[in-house]
Amino acid sequence: MTTETNILTAAGKMPADKTAITDTISDAISEKTARRILSNYVGGRWVSAQTFGLLDVTNPASGEVLARVPLSGVAEVEAAVAAASAALPDWRARSVGERTEFIYALREKFRQRIDELAASVTRESGKVPSDARAEITRSIEVLEVACAAPMTMQGRILEGVARGINTETIRQPVGVCAAITPFNFPAMVPLWFVPFAIVYGNTFVLKPSEQVPLTSELMFHIFEEISLPCGVVNLVHGAHDAVNAILDSPGIRAVSFVGSVTTAKYIYRRAAENGKRVQALGGAKNYMVVMPDAVVDKTVSNVLGNAGQRCMAGSVLVTVGSAQTAIMGRLKAGAEKLIAGDGMDVKASLGPVISSAACERIHEAIESGLKEGAELLVDGRRPGGVPAGGNFVGPTILNHVKPEMRVAREEIFGPVLSVMHVDTLEQAIALVNSDPRGNGTSIFTENGAAVREYSRRIEVGMVGVNIGVAASPAYFPFSGWKDSFFGDLHVHGWDAVEFFTRKKTVTSRYFSAGETGKFFVEQGDKH
Ligand code: NAD
Repeated sequence: MTTETNILTAAGKMPADKTAITDTISDAISEKTARRILSNYVGGRWVSAQTFGLLDVTNPASGEVLARVPLSGVAEVEAAVAAASAALPDWRARSVGERTEFIYALREKFRQRIDELAASVTRESGKVPSDARAEITRSIEVLEVACAAPMTMQGRILEGVARGINTETIRQPVGVCAAITPFNFPAMVPLWFVPFAIVYGNTFVLKPSEQVPLTSELMFHIFEEISLPCGVVNLVHGAHDAVNAILDSPGIRAVSFVGSVTTAKYIYRRAAENGKRVQALGGAKNYMVVMPDAVVDKTVSNVLGNAGQRCMAGSVLVTVGSAQTAIMGRLKAGAEKLIAGDGMDVKASLGPVISSAACERIHEAIESGLKEGAELLVDGRRPGGVPAGGNFVGPTILNHVKPEMRVAREEIFGPVLSVMHVDTLEQAIALVNSDPRGNGTSIFTENGAAVREYSRRIEVGMVGVNIGVAASPAYFPFSGWKDSFFGDLHVHGWDAVEFFTRKKTVTSRYFSAGETGKFFVEQGDKH
């Protein structure tokens, strides 16, 4: 393949028309020397990928090309797996306390460099600074939870399963682990996995989203600064080829994935077929049910804070009975107050979406909703005052959406809220449970009985009560149900130790104790 045919657009797809392809290619060639090409981090060294395939990494608020990311393949992944395998014996032989010291050091570095990390998230993902900072704060929380390894990695022992015999279960590392991560949390999602994996004695290969590789690069510089032994963590940039190489690599024992439903299903199937342990988190459609007794002002602020590029974003609001009259006016007024703009602009409360392709997809979804009979309550299709070249969609509310409409069936992953109306809690539960996904949901009510009924019957992994984004803290498991999750063990909390360790059961007895009354065996003793 030539350099030209390998250069794609930032969204990872060839542009639809040939002129655009030619433009992309000639732009890429003319700028090639001016724009930094990212390196992989393998065995403690920054190394160039052996590929001519490159993607532009852009700032979604301006279209500015920030760097070029190489599309690594089998050779690069296998080099990283070899480095991680070579590092494994020494790393797992270190004491759990010594490994935990590295996580303490990481936590300190992340706290010191929170602004720099948050700015990197904003620059490549478009997230507004308050969201970017919240992301780094949650990443620090994950590091803190991983520091409990000397407690969480403990096994169990039963004395006297038979006379003089004990049985114990110990936890050991799984081996080389890998993660494949999405664009919308460039720091937090990789850190859902790396700290737990390494503190439990595994070594690691990370393939971050090709759309946001820069924050991973920065985090790996931090890993280098704390002198993590060479090969314990490895970074391989790329897209589908790198992912397939991870899924097929015999050296990788466990794969963690976060991304869309279609990819999650594919990853789960292929990795499991190859005998790996897998946790694959997919996309979402999160319903927020507003009961007639909800505290409306608080509900509105919760609801509006969620619409966007988050797997826990509230994307469908369901009013029950008279909640409709109470909430719609305030919902509209609240949405209209949101200001779309560059995250670096202090006035902006809503950043851009990740790519022009995402922007187009969201516009198409809105248009399809209108064609299918939804009513446009707030129109964000042409937000005013946004920077040229950015991928902006303003806050949008579609009212009277029906479950069979495309906007209800697909994950829009943008600042678009669909509103549906039902008469009873029973109907609301049936509606939410009819969705194939089940990541997060919230109910807004002061009625404890309604909360109990909803929480018990809802087919969703994370439930919020008067809380819009019910993302579990790092010391609890995080994950959805149904098409939002493929696997058995969720992310962080107690599930992290289960996923990143293998249990071994040892049954033992010693002949020197007990019968002879001596605690050593002498030559000639008969047993
Ligand atoms: P995506 O599925 O397009 O990409 C995720 C990763 O998979 C990337 O690293 C990408 O390189 C790789 N990939 C994509 N298509 C592939 C293919 N065909 N073959 C091999 N590898 C492939 O997801 P995205 O657009 O980066 O992220 C947004 C999605 O992630 C949304 O659906 C969102 O709901 C979901 N998400 C879910 C959670 C959760 O906790 N469930 C958290 C964050 C994001």
